[in-house]
This record gives sequence, C-alpha cells and structure tokens, in this order.
Amino acid sequence: MVEEPVQPLVKYLPTEYGAIMISNELLELLRCPHCVREKNGLLTLHRESWLICNECGRKYPIVDDIPIMLLDEGEKWIATPIEQLPVPPLET
Ligand SMILES: [Zn+2]
Repeated sequence: MVEEPVQPLVKYLPTEYGAIMISNELLELLRCPHCVREKNGLLTLHRESWLICNECGRKYPIVDDIPIMLLDEGEKWIATPIEQLPVPPLET
C-alpha cells in the first residue's frame, strides 16, 4: 500500500479544464493562510496575477493560473507596493 503524498491546496484545483480562470467563486474559497484562523482573510484579485490579503497585505502570486498560497511567498511581497508587483509574477 502506498499512501498518497500530501498535496498542497492548489493541486485540488480543476486543472483538467486547462487554464483556470480566477473566478469569483474561487476567490470566495481562497483565504489568506495567515489570517484565516482569526479573521476572514479575504483576498483581492490584482490584474489577474496577484491575490492580495485585505487584512495583512500579504500578496500571493498566480503562476500559470495557479494561486501560490504559501505563507513564505506571501511574506516576500508584503512590503512591495501593489503598483510595483511584477505582472506576470516571477517564477518561484
Ligand atoms: Zn492575511
């Protein structure tokens, strides 16, 4: 018996449809992993390329239509003004 390795959240997104549109429905499901335990952690979509947490200002890049919802990634950009975020985001 081989157990399935633990997959990050993004692997559960429906990739079989090809390019994933970051829809409003998906936005409602995604939350900032830092804030969601205590607050709403609602995210704002920026230029189809970034998800920005309304609470803490962490910014999560969307690479190849996959939101990279990692704390380390979000913190990397926390001090970067929104207008200076690279579009498209750099590969991680
Ligand atoms: Zn947050």
